[in-house]
Amino acid sequence: MSEDPNDWDIATRLVRGGLARTDHGEMSEALFLTQSFVYDSPEEADARFSGAAPGFVYARYGSPTVKMFEDRLALLEGAPVCRATASGMAAVYLSMLGLLRAGDHVVAGRALFGSCRWLLSNWAPRFGVDTTFVDASDLEAWRAAMRPNTRMVLVESPANPLLEICDIAAIVKIAHEVGARVVVDNVFATPIFQSPLKLGADVVVYSATKHIDGQGRVMGGALLCEEALFEEAYRDLFRHTGPALSPFNAWVLLKGLETLDLRVRRQSETAAHLADLAADHPKVRACRYPTRADHPQAAIARRQMSGGGTLLAMDLGDQAAAFRVLNALQLIDISNNLGDAKSMATHPATTTHRAMTPEQRQEIGLTEGWIRVSVGLESPVDLARDLTRALDAA
Ligand SMILES: *Cc1c(COP(=O)(O)O)cnc(C)c1O
Repeated sequence: MSEDPNDWDIATRLVRGGLARTDHGEMSEALFLTQSFVYDSPEEADARFSGAAPGFVYARYGSPTVKMFEDRLALLEGAPVCRATASGMAAVYLSMLGLLRAGDHVVAGRALFGSCRWLLSNWAPRFGVDTTFVDASDLEAWRAAMRPNTRMVLVESPANPLLEICDIAAIVKIAHEVGARVVVDNVFATPIFQSPLKLGADVVVYSATKHIDGQGRVMGGALLCEEALFEEAYRDLFRHTGPALSPFNAWVLLKGLETLDLRVRRQSETAAHLADLAADHPKVRACRYPTRADHPQAAIARRQMSGGGTLLAMDLGDQAAAFRVLNALQLIDISNNLGDAKSMATHPATTTHRAMTPEQRQEIGLTEGWIRVSVGLESPVDLARDLTRALDAA
């Protein structure tokens, strides 16, 4: 193929990016289930191990189907390097390990995916790394939290579970002034609606388990960054710690990428529609959706995202009302995953965010009345009917 993939629009990148056909000329991406590779001569093995010749040497370091997935996602994100991992948390964990050493300090938004918050609160202190958690929407708080030894900043926007938005470009500026690297967990925005590297971030991480698969099948993750940072912080770590994605999962995720743009745009349109419907319902105290005018950071969301995303959150007032709504749903499943073709709703205070103390939940505004909805690919009409019926029951 003679076309330069960098000239392609997103939809083309997602279908054809990274495609590396064998001599068989197979149409679909081949699934290579092999742990190791053979060489014609010891000289060739020598050259591949030294990096002088291209080619794979061991599947923990890289393998053909996984590389197709990495190349496709890198092309989508506009990132020089992409490395796939076995889960989103493996990518988040490695993003930290590569940047931090004992004595370093991290600043992070206090509303984070539960396991990310746990890693920084409960695990990193073992290695002499402490974290200051800030109100991510308050730039003064970010500025005040920076120390001379701050080496990493972790940003999630929109954040879990109430879809708080933070100004990524402004936080990057503050972090770079003290020499800290900025890692953005871009799962909620998806690569379709937000490009953190273009906003100045140093590293982007994904849980591919969510929208990239998008059909509830496999776990996966990815870390993307510039070549120089990858060399400095990550290459050896990836080789020697074993976070490798399975080729089968990479194959599934490649197929997920083909339809990512279509799915996420459709799900986001339906989510915006359901958010408007929920906001107008008398039983709903508050409804959060990033691009709605009543979202506290709507202006930033409109500037830094090209779509609102596939999630919304609503406050029913108390846990009993929230549970009544969940129990009255007939189509939307009760589940804590997100980004799936199937719509699902969860009560964060008793599920994804139950490990937080009540005070920590209070800080991020997560009271017992909130429900988070991940909007899927079902008919918007059927979803609206299900949600309205459930809200009427609240
Ligand atoms: C799901 C998720 C993760 C972790 O991904 P896994 O694939 O479950 O390990 C990290 N961050 C966010 C925002 C997520 O939604």
